Amino acid sequence: MNVREDANRPSILIVEDEAALSLLLTYNLEAEGYRVERCDRGDEAELLLAESPPDLVILDWMLPGVSGLEICRRLRAREVTRGLPVIMLTARGDEGERIRGLSVGADDYVVKPFSVPELMARVRALLRRASPERIAGRLAAGDIELDRETRRVRRGGREIHLGPTEFRLLDYLLEKPGRIFTRAQLLDAVWGMSAEIDERTVDVHVGRLRRALSRGRETDPIRTVRGAGYGFDEMFGRA
Ligand code: CA
Repeated sequence: MNVREDANRPSILIVEDEAALSLLLTYNLEAEGYRVERCDRGDEAELLLAESPPDLVILDWMLPGVSGLEICRRLRAREVTRGLPVIMLTARGDEGERIRGLSVGADDYVVKPFSVPELMARVRALLRRASPERIAGRLAAGDIELDRETRRVRRGGREIHLGPTEFRLLDYLLEKPGRIFTRAQLLDAVWGMSAEIDERTVDVHVGRLRRALSRGRETDPIRTVRGAGYGFDEMFGRA
């Protein structure tokens, strides 16, 4: 599997304190090609979610630390994670709990014990709904458009010429507007896990990408967060 495909695989965070269930889900999700991370505490999950939000969360209701319900509520309160698909797992099945789960913003709600194929189907459906661009092959924000099939980038209709590295970098950043990636994360995703490249290389290519994208007084869509990394400004084109 090449680096691009790997970076394009949707990532899923499983937050579940039943070890056997967590393992079973990890195994099945990885078999379907997802990147999986898991943790068994609510407070840990909050740290992971703040650091690097996945493409989808499978969230148990009853957890040590912070409850799944509370985590979901907090995810919905933050701009960056407002649209993050959440599937809530619970042992409780009565209608009142179901409504509470959905009212804090869970996208779906699965009662234990559930069938794994059914959960897989729900994961696929939610990801399709949340990121149609994975299928469309086209990303856009404000006046910037990136077409994965023709490998063309345009801003306000004019063609932007990018080198292959800058193209991959923009593709990766554009996929998750608002998310800040560390230089190490960008090296892994854009250059590949095994790349032995100095992290300053990232700065050089981000600089080139910026110069290519913005002419004159055009707004710079790339955010630099000192001590953290780079991201595509989620407010770009909206202000
Ligand atoms: Ca539990």
